[in-house]
Amino acid sequence: MSSPEARFVAREKLLTCVHCGLCLAACPTYVELGMEADSPRGRIHLIRALEEGQLVPTPEVIRHLDLCLGCRACETACPSGVEYGALIEAARPYVERFRPAPARWGRRALAAVLTTPALRRAAFAPLRLVGGARWVRRLARRLGSPWLAYVAALPGAARAPGLPAVPEPEGRPRGTAVLLTGCVAETAFGRTNVATARLLQRAGVRVVVPRGQGCCGALAIHLGAAERARTLARSLASVLGASEADWVVSNAAGCGALLREYGSLLPGDPAAAAVGARARDALALLAEVGLPPPSRPLACTVAVHDPCHLAHGQGVRAQVWELLATVPGVRLVELEESEMCCGSAGTYNLTEPGMARRLLERKLDRIAATGADVVAAANPGCILQIRAGAILRGLRVRVEHPIDLLATAHRLP
Ligand code: SF4
Ligand code: SF4
Repeated sequence: MSSPEARFVAREKLLTCVHCGLCLAACPTYVELGMEADSPRGRIHLIRALEEGQLVPTPEVIRHLDLCLGCRACETACPSGVEYGALIEAARPYVERFRPAPARWGRRALAAVLTTPALRRAAFAPLRLVGGARWVRRLARRLGSPWLAYVAALPGAARAPGLPAVPEPEGRPRGTAVLLTGCVAETAFGRTNVATARLLQRAGVRVVVPRGQGCCGALAIHLGAAERARTLARSLASVLGASEADWVVSNAAGCGALLREYGSLLPGDPAAAAVGARARDALALLAEVGLPPPSRPLACTVAVHDPCHLAHGQGVRAQVWELLATVPGVRLVELEESEMCCGSAGTYNLTEPGMARRLLERKLDRIAATGADVVAAANPGCILQIRAGAILRGLRVRVEHPIDLLATAHRLP
């Protein structure tokens, strides 16, 4: 029998796991640690025992769940269709109240800073003043400091050109997209948002950029702050859902994956259901509507890293290759384990720096083996993580969003 207070997840979702173990080799934490409790199958077993009241959330149990990246590689590998992402997202808020108070309040404060626009901008402002500076890069390397390396990996504070309210399409109109500007993306990667709007324009898409969007809630979900995530999602859905656009577009893989789940995150909310049904990753939409081939050659070798929430969360991989293959001068090379997490995973590199670093080193080993001069990664978190690792290792590789590479090849500002 389940204890009433332990009913936090739909039981039928737990029962779809047949314990075959076919997901184990895809799980980064299992691959690194070789422990059943740090595998998808082991964690499903723990979540089920918690749900049935046979286990209490001891620090050890919480530890195994915390080490999960939420990367959903296990979902791609699972032949039984287990919705692992939904299971871990239900378990995180449940175990939150069993943490010691300082840890609980620390995580709440992090969620508040990252998802409140004024607090986030205030936190990022001093970091961006020195972001990208050569001396910070050198200092990070000399001290071997991952935190300084993240600062050095941030784009500089130069202002991105402003986004026009409604960029009109070039050529034959293909439809209308409302663009999610994001929170961390909007604060640190404003240029990528502008490039996204310009590329969509070029592909014949009218782009609407509503003001006052706020955060989608993905970072709050990573931290187990489910109520905060729902509040943020409700507010964003009312802003994005107000337009009659054909698509809701995001260039950040984590945000895009959550937008697609808005219907189940907010059952009974028509605006959320509409956003979920229309959500598209920007690269997937560009490939779908057809972006004209670019004219400017980029003479470089590019390795593509597949962000978890793009590859596993949205099933988008081939489209990135297709688009980059149209750029004259670009040589695409295979990256071994391209779909394995780099350790960024939302806020994971802040809350679990040890495992995040192990996975980053693994990723850098494989990047170095390609000999590529550019790594394309369609998620701001992955870009910062891999850039920071490359700085610390002294690896001469640029890490860019594919949107920015395409915008350069299209001679867009
Ligand atoms: S999650 Fe899927 S692949 Fe993994 S053990 Fe369960 S049924 Fe097998
Ligand atoms: S989400 Fe990722 S880290 Fe978590 S169990 Fe699945 S494969 Fe492992």
